[in-house]
Amino acid sequence: MPQRATKRGPARTRLGGDCDVLICGASFAGLAVARELVGCGAEVVVLDRYEIGERQTSACGIPTAWLTALGLEQSLQQSFGELVIHTPHATARLELPWTFSTFDYRTLCGLLAEQGSFRFETATVQGRRGETVQTDRGALRAPLVVDALGWRRVLGTGENVQPPDALLSRGLEVHPSGSGADLEVWIDRSYVPAGYGWSFPAGEELRIGVGSFDPRFHVREPTVRLAGELHAPPVRYQGNWIPHALRSATADGVFFVGDAAGHCLPLTAEGIRTALYFGLACGRELSEVLAGRQSREQALRRYHDFCASHATAFRWMLRVQRLIPRIAPRVLARALGAMERKRFVDWAFGHYLEIAHPRFVGAEGGAPRRTIRAAA
Ligand SMILES: Cc1cc2nc3c(=O)[nH]c(=O)nc-3n(C[C@H](O)[C@H](O)[C@H](O)COP(=O)(O)OP(=O)(O)OC[C@H]3O[C@@H](n4cnc5c(N)ncnc54)[C@H](O)[C@@H]3O)c2cc1C
Repeated sequence: MPQRATKRGPARTRLGGDCDVLICGASFAGLAVARELVGCGAEVVVLDRYEIGERQTSACGIPTAWLTALGLEQSLQQSFGELVIHTPHATARLELPWTFSTFDYRTLCGLLAEQGSFRFETATVQGRRGETVQTDRGALRAPLVVDALGWRRVLGTGENVQPPDALLSRGLEVHPSGSGADLEVWIDRSYVPAGYGWSFPAGEELRIGVGSFDPRFHVREPTVRLAGELHAPPVRYQGNWIPHALRSATADGVFFVGDAAGHCLPLTAEGIRTALYFGLACGRELSEVLAGRQSREQALRRYHDFCASHATAFRWMLRVQRLIPRIAPRVLARALGAMERKRFVDWAFGHYLEIAHPRFVGAEGGAPRRTIRAAA
């Protein structure tokens, strides 16, 4: 059980000292790393600027099998067997070979944290020198440092690339009360020239948003417009930059996981299951170091190579992301009609799930060497 210590005001005492593993970021990626370290007897510290689960970072949609594999079903809000895609000239209903679900962020993070064994501290991470991480509450030192802080890659080396020049998409959504039966996507240039709009029902809430692959295109107005057309008030905003290109998963002795390593998939901007997947992989490498079965340098190399072995899939998805906005809307509508065929949908979505398959969770019992090769 993690010890929670969300410090406020004068309770924000100075932090200092050493630990074995320092995980910066307590969302999907960081908590997945921590989960894999349970039982290793090491002193693990997890830091986040907010309490665990306090600030939702996405529309919280994921293939249901990931929730099941990780024992997180309690967080599930609504499941969908179809994906409805609207274009200006046609609507396609794709019958998925697996279901997709929305979940409650706070519940999921709480459940995932319970699977770990670590000390949690609320602190804003500011930077790093060698093995020492600087926070607004003081410095902590660890030989194993993980950056799971999201796209800013706070612990990276050198100048960080900032939007709009970085390979980032822009996403914004509103969370009005309401309900719906369908998982819906809009590929429509009247909302966004390159990107898509979405409506993800989650029990008594709708998550309606617009994402632009071009970081220069502002998505607030189309998000409000889409919500209006769905008769939902634009309330409770949530937005962020979303990476759409892999970055090096290791640098200067640090492990980068999730958005910090560009692990979010291009085209769909699905970054939760990949943050979990690469988080598990990273955690397994770290636990081998803690057990004395490999050095930190070996773990860095193996984790780097594992992430890099997925580069082809990420590159293909980026190609499709760049291609779709160039297709004339009428041609796209015809193509979608053809894509509705079950055999095609099964093939495409089957390959898509393989990029970060939930069976990877169950592979945890084996040695990482075998586990990782089997899943790669
Ligand atoms: C509008 C929108 C909707 C999305 N919808 C989906 C979706 O439905 N499904 C999906 O799969 N993906 C979705 N994504 C993408 C998904 O949110 C990310 O890919 C995913 O959250 C990455 O997980 P992560 O753990 O790497 O980073 P994050 O979830 O961003 O977590 C980073 C953590 O680090 C903390 N942090 C950041 N900086 C600091 C600091 N300096 N000091 C201390 N703590 C810090 C944050 O508080 C946070 O807890 C969406 C993205 C957006 C913007």
